[in-house]
Amino acid sequence: MSKRLTTTAGAPMPTNETSATAGARGPVLLEDYQLIEKLAHQNRERIPERVVHAKGWGAKGTFTVTHDISRYTSAAIFSKVGNTCDILSRWSTVAGEQGAADAERDVRGFSVKFYTEEGNWDVVGNNTPIFFIRDAYKFPDFIRTQKRHPQTNLRSPEAMFDFWAAQPESVHQVTILMSDRGIPQNPMHMHGYGSHTYSMFNDKGERHWVKFHFRCQQPIRNYTNEQAEEIIGKTRESYQEDLFNAIEEGNFPKWELNIQVMAEEDAETCGFNPFDLTKVWPHAAFPLIPVGMLEFNENPENYFQYVENAAYSPSNKIPGIGFSPDKMLQGRIFAYADAHRYRLGTHYEQLPANRAKSETHFYHKDGSMRFFPQKTGHPDAYYEPNQYEEAARPDPSVAEPPLRISGDADRYVQEDKDADYVQPRALYAEVLGDDERARLHLNMARAMSPCSTSVKERWYAVLGRVHPDYEAGVRKAAEDLKSGNIDTYPGIPVTGDTPVRAAE
Ligand code: NDP
Repeated sequence: MSKRLTTTAGAPMPTNETSATAGARGPVLLEDYQLIEKLAHQNRERIPERVVHAKGWGAKGTFTVTHDISRYTSAAIFSKVGNTCDILSRWSTVAGEQGAADAERDVRGFSVKFYTEEGNWDVVGNNTPIFFIRDAYKFPDFIRTQKRHPQTNLRSPEAMFDFWAAQPESVHQVTILMSDRGIPQNPMHMHGYGSHTYSMFNDKGERHWVKFHFRCQQPIRNYTNEQAEEIIGKTRESYQEDLFNAIEEGNFPKWELNIQVMAEEDAETCGFNPFDLTKVWPHAAFPLIPVGMLEFNENPENYFQYVENAAYSPSNKIPGIGFSPDKMLQGRIFAYADAHRYRLGTHYEQLPANRAKSETHFYHKDGSMRFFPQKTGHPDAYYEPNQYEEAARPDPSVAEPPLRISGDADRYVQEDKDADYVQPRALYAEVLGDDERARLHLNMARAMSPCSTSVKERWYAVLGRVHPDYEAGVRKAAEDLKSGNIDTYPGIPVTGDTPVRAAE
């Protein structure tokens, strides 16, 4: 038997067919609250889309600890091999709006919410280990260059390359973006990175700096521009289709969580700034240490509730895991939670996607969406400190060890200007093969082709400082594009598979 249709207040409804009118041909009655409620709800079906990462795809799953890292962290989830917790991930493009095509050239967001027994731990990263800028101060300007021009309402390559040329620290990330990995085939075929430097501390109060890597257990697969254009011509929702169908069919995607670890005191002598988000930690010096496996095995029953409402923030950490002086991380700790307060509402952490699965006790009080009972542990305890024994109290045992900081407060710039070119040079000259370099040249030349000569020349100068072959290759690809002589450029082999390395 079907269920009885009710109003949202629970009263059974006699019909869901017609408005109430005065006579069969008469006007609609204002008292037809069913109609008014239906139209009013439709008007409110959208919330502001995210300013960045608006288009996304999500899945639920399980995280299982496979290796003991309790020497680095006191986090309860890592206390024992075999521990598990539920996870919710959202993958996304950065620049496109909610209706943008999935298979566009862009960085992908890679966020994981771990619902641990000591609260939610969010790793809010990307499919790249680094970012375009190292200081959150520049983030609003950077994102503006990725979005629409105020007059034309079009994306502007001129703005993008103008900004990048003035900000050579970006060349590392732009190189990855223009390489094969700039268009993954879908979220299941790319690595994820926490990108920022975080920290872990153990029971003895020892701190280590840490990078998080999600190593894809499926082959890495990418599209060329031409392949992506063909896909987008057929469907704008290719990622949603691929991910949803894979999970429905029982092909559960997996990633292995790995960490790189640096002793606290080594940060001062490290040859590069380990808190600079435009730099990786080289694998040879900081080998990957396997930690656990993420498996995504459930499509959320309601996209809006679990993917649109999912609110990730690097501010969500658990005892045993801490921040670092990474300037971008410091900015995001504020900005992400603040974006959610604006977009979802004051109590967004109580929505099903965001609600901790462990017990929560706090003294935040009223405001929009105050639909949950008092969480303080005692009805008279609506402030703290208070006299009530059962009321929630802080637990000093979870305190982080003190962070020693030296230096004067100032607005610092990186003094070693050459440092920004070292790692993109290693990627270009040592990691990429000949075919990958040729595709990188062509992708870059295409992307910058609408730019003015002055912007192009400034960007060529940046590429030349990375490697003379890089500048020469992109200049030649620009000429080849102009003369239509691009048939000799290699495509990506059918699957685009590259082997996935095992951790050390
Ligand atoms: P390694 O030779 O040990 O590793 C190279 C890394 O580059 C691998 O993780 C590889 O992924 C990844 N890679 C391959 N092609 C691309 C691409 N087009 N875009 C982004 N990453 C790619 O090198 P090092 O650790 O010594 O670092 C050398 C350079 O490699 C760095 O300067 C950086 O540009 C890049 N890199 C380094 C990473 C790190 O955390 N150390 C992470 C990612 C990139 P895979 O494992 O799938 O082969």
